[in-house]
Amino acid sequence: MSTKFIFITGGVASSLGKGVASAALGALLQARGYSVRMRKFDPYLNIDPGTMSPYQHGEVYVTDDGAETDLDLGHYERYTNVAASKSDSVTTGRIYQTVLQRERKGQYLGATVQVIPHVTDMIKEFIQADLNDEDFVLCEIGGTVGDIESLPFIEAIRQMRQDIGVERTLFVHLTLVPYISSAAELKTKPTQHSVKELLASGIQPDLLLCRSDREIPADARRKIGLFCNIRKERVIQAIDVDTIYATPLTYHDEGFDIEVLKHFGLPTDTPPDLSAWSDIVERIRRPEGTVRIGVVGKYVELKDAYKSLIDALNHGGIANHVKVEIEWIEAEAFEKSGTTERLENVHGILVPGGFGERGSEGKILAAKFAREHKLPYFGICFGMQMAVIEAARSLVGWSDAGSTEFGPTMRPVVGLLTEWAKGNTVERRSSEDNLGGTMRLGAYPAALAPGSKAAEIYADSLIHERHRHRYEINVAYRKEIEAAGLIFSGLSPDGRLPEIVELKDHPWFIGVQFHPELKSRPMAPHPLFSAFIEAALTHSRLV
Ligand code: GLN
Repeated sequence: MSTKFIFITGGVASSLGKGVASAALGALLQARGYSVRMRKFDPYLNIDPGTMSPYQHGEVYVTDDGAETDLDLGHYERYTNVAASKSDSVTTGRIYQTVLQRERKGQYLGATVQVIPHVTDMIKEFIQADLNDEDFVLCEIGGTVGDIESLPFIEAIRQMRQDIGVERTLFVHLTLVPYISSAAELKTKPTQHSVKELLASGIQPDLLLCRSDREIPADARRKIGLFCNIRKERVIQAIDVDTIYATPLTYHDEGFDIEVLKHFGLPTDTPPDLSAWSDIVERIRRPEGTVRIGVVGKYVELKDAYKSLIDALNHGGIANHVKVEIEWIEAEAFEKSGTTERLENVHGILVPGGFGERGSEGKILAAKFAREHKLPYFGICFGMQMAVIEAARSLVGWSDAGSTEFGPTMRPVVGLLTEWAKGNTVERRSSEDNLGGTMRLGAYPAALAPGSKAAEIYADSLIHERHRHRYEINVAYRKEIEAAGLIFSGLSPDGRLPEIVELKDHPWFIGVQFHPELKSRPMAPHPLFSAFIEAALTHSRLV
């Protein structure tokens, strides 16, 4: 079958869950045996979100091949289990960068370089680049229709329909049908306007997905269809769900996948196999217990900054049949208050990735508390670095142990990484380099020490995990730190980069330099998260 392209745009408001909706459609098509590829096009000018603040952008999701991407790629991977790559996340900045590089090389042969056709051609090139004969490519266009910046993308997908035909393209538009309580009515007007906006750009959506907090009556759907030139079966309601993993099931119940297949003239008689989805939804809805995890971080008021982390903790809950309640603890406030009361009520502490000195002493305190109280501790990236500093100070007795991330230090237990091996090549950086795209990024191997807790949890001796950091535990201090009880149980194969540390005499105290949350899936919870939640559950039964 020739590859078909599904374009997902959004209207009325942002944050309607376009990423989840796209991912859920991907999962539904997979459940019918089709192969899918998911892509995100973001209209902003940054080359990638790597340099953006978590407050602006939420989490930066990292792929195996080291791309720093939009968090929606995390949804795509979790729903479809297809590993994303650099070519699956493209911004306006990257499109322009590529166009301008070509212009400088004279590759436009003297032409006046313009948005149409040069930028739109480049967008179409990215949409179709690096494919492997997938049955479906789902392209989500970031932003909301009507934004000035998304216009070139809308124009490019309009052209694609002309280029390859209606048989190979589908336009899905996600909108909001709000309930106005004073009138006690659902309102269809915003959807009508949003579709008008799309029409003005030359796109007639084939299918509408209407977010709503309640059932949209058949009458209202007929009305939307009438005003928007769409048959009422293709006005699909997407009612709020209690867990995002229910979306493939509810979308299927509403006929979303059937209408998509009908559009492409594909058979619809055999129902999709959604049993794996029903299973996890069942487990989420009927937990057999609860564990409370304290997450000590810097961006705790912004949950988007910890999207994959929250999901991975929930996956750990799914694996153990429990609900995971997260107690968000702001590191700096915790550091200043000096009271450990909130930590006394949790069954495990997690210190996630982070950047900069602010709040770091609070994270060090949290690691100390977990170590001393034999409370399960999981340190991820920065959380590992802080745990090692804590051990160096308290166990080895180096009161001056610190990280060069916070400025010069006499004892750089954590230091800037200037050179490391990537496959057969050596990557080099200096502190004067550009900030964008210059961290240790993407998947790297780690060898696990036989007999360690890490090796036991992974049931493996060599693992591959994704990285995103600039600083590294200084292996020169290994001997003293290990003698004090913190073991380096995972190292890069050349032995130079510590990847995992664990405390010897502690029920569960593990720090990892990578981001395991990026590879956790609802159907395949990450072993570290399953084991951490299991340890927290055991702890909860002791107290
Ligand atoms: N700031 C630390 C570093 O760059 C940790 C980064 C992270 O937690 N992702 O090494």
